[in-house]
Amino acid sequence: MYEIPLDEILAELRRLNANRVLIQSPEGLRREAEELASFLENKGIEAILHGEVNYGACDPADLEAKRLGCDALIHLGHSYMTLHLEVPTIFVPAFSEVDVIPSLKKNLGEIRKLGEKIALVTTAQHIHKLGEAREFLEKQGFEVVIGKGDSRVSWPGQVLGCNFSSARVDAEGILFIGSGYFHPLGVALATKKPTLAVNPYSGDAIWMTEEAERLIRKRWAQIAKAMDAKSFGVIVSTKKGQLRLAEAKRILNLLREHGKKAKLIAMDHISYPKLEGFPFDAYVVVACPRVPMDDYENWMKPVLTPREVELLLGLGEDYEFDEILGTERRTDEPLGIAVHGVEK
Ligand code: SF4
Repeated sequence: MYEIPLDEILAELRRLNANRVLIQSPEGLRREAEELASFLENKGIEAILHGEVNYGACDPADLEAKRLGCDALIHLGHSYMTLHLEVPTIFVPAFSEVDVIPSLKKNLGEIRKLGEKIALVTTAQHIHKLGEAREFLEKQGFEVVIGKGDSRVSWPGQVLGCNFSSARVDAEGILFIGSGYFHPLGVALATKKPTLAVNPYSGDAIWMTEEAERLIRKRWAQIAKAMDAKSFGVIVSTKKGQLRLAEAKRILNLLREHGKKAKLIAMDHISYPKLEGFPFDAYVVVACPRVPMDDYENWMKPVLTPREVELLLGLGEDYEFDEILGTERRTDEPLGIAVHGVEK
């Protein structure tokens, strides 16, 4: 489904004088990763496949590449997030070839319900189609706003499951182009504005308001389950783009100030089975917000986000999404492969 630019990657590796590389890929690009490894081996470059799970650019395997004596890391499927890298890293984003215009045409009636001034957001997969989508919508009479976003994203209009900075603009409603629920749900929760998700693959459009209300109800049920908890494990991630130690300590102190026992737990890949044996009544995940929200049904104990702990302790009333915000982004990434972490 995705074309990996083999020759471009090879040219970058030659420029870097790389003899050994580590190839990191999300689950959906494992076949492409293996093909890339074969291609590079035929060109005389030793390639090692990274077998750990990877969900985002927040988790580059640069340290592992360094330990393995690799001259470079190839990170497939995601664009660069502003982070310090230990080895030169080639980011190879995966762009979808699907045409987004037919799904916009089909759902014009629903899109008009957002208002005249709309914000347009998408995931990295469709970011190269955002200009076309804007042009089409402007011809239909909309005023289209594309927010710049912060340093966690690579391009204006891009959203992540943990960052909706590009959706926070002056607009009546938000139009999300893409598949899956989590991103548009996050947009709706983070902006509290009417959000319509148009799926360019299926052509379907879904209003996220009801979905957001349903999710908030489920999250309040988790908070209620944690009400009687006396001890909490506060999980901090060791993944560099999810490492929020100051926030984890703030939550730890808040819990202790409110008479709860709490300890910090450091984890890389966070899942409940790895926590078996700890005597905590409940957990707080101060890492990727998708972990407690997507996976909570697999946890035997209540699992909360930092924002939800504040609600539990009576320090707020309104439900807030646990976003990870960055700083100012100076430049946009190219719409293609990009090399970072090279000493200048
Ligand atoms: S923290 Fe989670 S949502 Fe954010 S980029 Fe990483 S995997 Fe994606």
